[in-house]
Amino acid sequence: MTSLLGRVKSAGLDRLGFRASVVALRAPAPGFRLITLAGSGLAKHLWHAGDRISLRTPEDELRSYTPFDWDQKEGRARLLIVGLGSGPGTRFVHGLAVGDEVQLLGPKRSVNLDLERAPIIVGDETILGLCAAWSNAHPDSPPIVLLEAIDVAACQAATLAIGVAPQVAVRDRASLVAATVEAVQANPAAPLILSGRAQTIAAIRRTLKHAGLSDHPVKTRAYWDENRAGLD
Ligand SMILES: Cc1cc2nc3c(=O)[nH]c(=O)nc-3n(C[C@H](O)[C@H](O)[C@H](O)COP(=O)(O)OP(=O)(O)OC[C@H]3O[C@@H](n4cnc5c(N)ncnc54)[C@H](O)[C@@H]3O)c2cc1C
Repeated sequence: MTSLLGRVKSAGLDRLGFRASVVALRAPAPGFRLITLAGSGLAKHLWHAGDRISLRTPEDELRSYTPFDWDQKEGRARLLIVGLGSGPGTRFVHGLAVGDEVQLLGPKRSVNLDLERAPIIVGDETILGLCAAWSNAHPDSPPIVLLEAIDVAACQAATLAIGVAPQVAVRDRASLVAATVEAVQANPAAPLILSGRAQTIAAIRRTLKHAGLSDHPVKTRAYWDENRAGLD
């Protein structure tokens, strides 16, 4: 039986956000879902590249994702979501089908991409939407993208589907950290964005400090954490 607290939470969530329909859905690579949402609520909200939305799951949990484009005129937004989590968000997204309705909250500021120069963006499969959001907003100014991925081939196939061309895609964290130091040294004016897994962000920050690069402009935004659920 649903607890009183659960029912109060559910009633509270009912009053928030807006609904949209899944109008297109495909798997550009194993484990990835490319989802197009449409609805009048999307037309009413102003989105900036780098903002995130939250999806309400059937368990009344909220999970955050990063639209990589948002057509306010048509009321459409697209998301690229990887299925590596083990919680309600992953179960919900990977069970979606065309015609399903979802409840969204947001958009809300997450990574401010209002930058004067193309950034170096470092992270994992979860940041592909963020990279594409920059690329769509700045087609003449591609970012340097450095990725760690559980399945490098699948991750590269997914990047192709959204027009992102990573310079590096590796499986091990040490190689990603080394590539980040090299990229920062070679591009001293490029802002660095560290996102994705919290533990990788921490490792890169430690290494940059040891390399005397802690003055380099950096934005950090963890998207998930090995030891926590539901980051927002
Ligand atoms: C601001 C923001 C924007 C985001 N944008 C995107 C996006 O555009 N695309 C996208 O795919 N993801 C994105 N994420 C990450 C995504 O929200 C999480 O991966 C998702 O919430 C997992 O939900 P879950 O309920 O399955 O797992 P949770 O209940 O959150 O966690 C359960 C377990 O799964 C683990 N876990 C969660 N995510 C991962 C992962 N990616 N790989 C391995 N283990 C994981 C957790 O460490 C935990 O042990 C974003 C997160 C934030 C905070």
